[in-house]
Amino acid sequence: MISGAGIAGPTLAYWLKAAGFEPTLVERAPVLRSGGYVIDFWGLGYDIAEQMGLLPDIDRSGYHVQEMRVVDDRGRKLAGFGTRVFAELTGGRYVTLQRSDLSRLLFEKIKGRTEILFGDEIVAVREDPKCIRVELEHAGERCFDLLIGADGLHSAVRRLAFGPQTAFEKHLGYVVAAFEVRGYRLRDQDVYLMYGQPGRMVGRFTLRDDRTMFLFVFASTDTHLPASPDQQKAMVRDVYGGGGWECREILAELDQTDELYFDRVSQIRMPSWSRGRVALVGDAAFCVSLLAGQGSALAMISAYVLAGELAATPERYQEAFARYDELLRTHMETKQRAAERFAGAFAPKTRSGLLFRNLVIKTFAIPGVARLAFGRDIADALPLPNYNWPPDDGCGGGRNRHGPDDEEEDRSE
Ligand SMILES: Cc1cc2nc3c(=O)[nH]c(=O)nc-3n(C[C@H](O)[C@H](O)[C@H](O)COP(=O)(O)OP(=O)(O)OC[C@H]3O[C@@H](n4cnc5c(N)ncnc54)[C@H](O)[C@@H]3O)c2cc1C
Repeated sequence: MISGAGIAGPTLAYWLKAAGFEPTLVERAPVLRSGGYVIDFWGLGYDIAEQMGLLPDIDRSGYHVQEMRVVDDRGRKLAGFGTRVFAELTGGRYVTLQRSDLSRLLFEKIKGRTEILFGDEIVAVREDPKCIRVELEHAGERCFDLLIGADGLHSAVRRLAFGPQTAFEKHLGYVVAAFEVRGYRLRDQDVYLMYGQPGRMVGRFTLRDDRTMFLFVFASTDTHLPASPDQQKAMVRDVYGGGGWECREILAELDQTDELYFDRVSQIRMPSWSRGRVALVGDAAFCVSLLAGQGSALAMISAYVLAGELAATPERYQEAFARYDELLRTHMETKQRAAERFAGAFAPKTRSGLLFRNLVIKTFAIPGVARLAFGRDIADALPLPNYNWPPDDGCGGGRNRHGPDDEEEDRSE
């Protein structure tokens, strides 16, 4: 049983299915979410997407951003640089796309081949010697070999199996909000525009079909955020009211949207990603936050490695869980530390910090500097294990059709 059909969940279901397991996916939302924020996507996540045959679709859905531009109160360019450097450093394997598009494309790879329960969620779990009993809010109780939480930063599986969110969440001192609208008057194709004031930034990105995405990141140490969309909008209005550039126009658009993404910028840090028959992947296990700019790829890597390790020893899931943790922990912790360091640069809290940040961005326009600055961080230091997956036979067939504990049953037969 996999909880969550975002990025990690469908990726895990796909690879488990390829290895001969029979996953069931439960997603709390009644349908896959659309719209929302955009993500940069490259590295090992991109390689996994390629193995899943997704690159042509990702390329069609994605954008190749040409410039990152910081603007002042009146929209004049303060700093910026050509983002071709990212394409150069990755051999052209770098794309910007909506998170919801990546999620949809991953989901389409398992649709019709995997049991999927929309509009339901796990409300209780209990481990028996032979299985994990999962109580679903609507579908009642069911028994599974394993339960994997792929349900994001606020994972219910983590809460039910490991303890409260507060025990594992590290708030990075910022709040993020994002939304998408149609018909916004000002458009700048393939340019990511950013406007900052001390402790707050807002970004605008022009999408296809007359759509525009806005992103807000602002400093806040408040861990209790408003729950209702109206209160959330009021908080954004409060922070950005009186801001320069297009703040007034963007806040007017905020009134029109029904779908506002709104959350704390946090990381998840856990001493272990598994307990008994339960394991976690993606943001549920090690959320690196938006500041790492790579959470989706990392979510896919964790799903791929967990599936590969389970396929290697399907009858000994404890060993697979342990190897999964061992292979990825250092990598994820390094990404978390880098994101924490970067937090101050994304939305500097002081005027001098902002000036310094813009000065640094200006230097990226000098030939070679951006390449030098990003070169080290952009390459994934982790080699992607080769699990010798069987060829995709179109119906998720695989080389072993066993689930955990099957060997024991086979022996008794
Ligand atoms: C503003 C922003 C910008 C970002 N930019 C980037 C970027 O540039 N590059 C990048 O790679 N990453 C980026 N990220 C991070 C990236 O979006 C996440 O790391 C990634 O989505 C994690 O995938 P996931 O599958 O673990 O979790 P999610 O994508 O959060 O998916 C979790 C799924 O579980 C479902 N769910 C939740 N609770 C339950 C429940 N109780 N029961 C059942 N289902 C449940 C949710 O509805 C959702 O479908 C960004 C994030 C933000 C917020």
